[in-house]
Amino acid sequence: MGFEPPVPHVVMISFPGQGHVNPLLRLAKRVAAKGVLITFTTTSDTGHQIISSSDVVPDDDGIPVGSGRLRFEFLDTNWDPSNGQKASLDDSMHHLETSGPADFADLIRKQSHAGRPVTYVVNNPFVPWAVDVATDMGIPCAVLWVQSCSVFSTYYHYHHSLAEFPTETNPDISVSLPGIPSMTPEEIPSFLLPSNPYKSLTKAILEQFHNIDKASKVFVNSFAELEPEAIDTIAKYVHLIPVGPLVEPEDESRSTLRGDLIKASDDCLEWLDTQAPKSVIYISLGSIVTFTKEEMAEMAHELTTNGRPFLWVVRPHCRELLSQGFLEEVKGRGMVVGWSPQDSVLNHGSVGCFLTHCGWNSVLETLTAGVPVIAYPQWGDQVTDAKFLVDIYKVGVRLKAPVERNALHAAIEAVMDGQEAEAIKEHATKWKEAAKMAVAKDGSSDRNIQLFVDEVKKRVAGDSNGYIQV
Ligand code: UDP
Repeated sequence: MGFEPPVPHVVMISFPGQGHVNPLLRLAKRVAAKGVLITFTTTSDTGHQIISSSDVVPDDDGIPVGSGRLRFEFLDTNWDPSNGQKASLDDSMHHLETSGPADFADLIRKQSHAGRPVTYVVNNPFVPWAVDVATDMGIPCAVLWVQSCSVFSTYYHYHHSLAEFPTETNPDISVSLPGIPSMTPEEIPSFLLPSNPYKSLTKAILEQFHNIDKASKVFVNSFAELEPEAIDTIAKYVHLIPVGPLVEPEDESRSTLRGDLIKASDDCLEWLDTQAPKSVIYISLGSIVTFTKEEMAEMAHELTTNGRPFLWVVRPHCRELLSQGFLEEVKGRGMVVGWSPQDSVLNHGSVGCFLTHCGWNSVLETLTAGVPVIAYPQWGDQVTDAKFLVDIYKVGVRLKAPVERNALHAAIEAVMDGQEAEAIKEHATKWKEAAKMAVAKDGSSDRNIQLFVDEVKKRVAGDSNGYIQV
């Protein structure tokens, strides 16, 4: 009887949020493509949203991705502990922290019984307990940090009191960190400000730094060429391994399963086909941030009078905030969708600029697509990302909140046709090339992913009988 070499099997566990699922699932596809079996997990409610928003029906063996496979198996835990009523973030976090670890340990045990023991675990932030579960079971674990390296460094310095930050008595000081340009209080992640109202988010973010040393490695969704100094200087404390930009792969590892929690309107791509090159304003605030009714009215006014074509993502629960008659007025020239296939939209030749809330995934997607931005950050790391987009990467202009029609008009004209538009486009093209090179075969991030795959494969081959017992 022949000996079947065991398959390297990595379990990736994500916090149930769109901005967390996307980068981890994209890392999963890139690792799987190099010949690894991946089991992707998150809470069951979010998991079922992912599956029902895609056209894929994955079975227990998963779907082929490059020379590996990607399978889905969800925790018994739901994200929302309430019965139909909206739970607070605190309640949901608490529920996840209490039920998640035991369910995750069960899921890992089940893999051994099914003949595919787990070689490695990768988790993303907000589920720091996954590191404890894995290490307690003797399985090595890596963390994927889903924001920029500069933001990681900022939180790290804050958590370990390694630098001075604004306080209630000294709220106006700028923050100076090695490898990062000096940041005013408006430019540091807003969760670190004394006035921040979202204390539970700050707690959840800083919680990740308690046990990060237990992880055998920390990946970051960034690339060496984008943040060289920040990556170098934080290495004194934590060796961050860049594996980004984690955008949808263009090669054979691309899968139709994109991780959307809301089904994307693919018809907007057909509509984009009918528009002139680089003419369309794309507007999206990601999965959490919303405009107020007044801001929606300002947006609608400018989009109606401006005359340029636009594609605006208004998530289903915000649609009622659209001004009356707006859709009729812009018919044919503008399109409003509940959710877009954003990576494909940004890579479509007719998109000319992106009004973005500057979530880190959106930042990397727009840099990779070479699309100039109107940066409209609201909170958290978005304000830091906006600074980088405008001042450091020089790919766009800032728009102050709350949005006002004249300021919006000025921002659109500046980035599409203004004096600086050409320079902005050149910078955007430069970053596009650098980003694509980083994840292309043998690029800086691709090599890091390959090293990880080699390590995972070696672990399986080197184990006494190929199995890590749990
Ligand atoms: N996204 C999408 N379609 C949309 C809006 C957003 O596919 O209509 C995706 C976007 O491509 C990104 C993610 O949702 O990958 C949002 O993550 P980001 O970090 O930008 O913002 P967050 O939602 O976490 O604030």
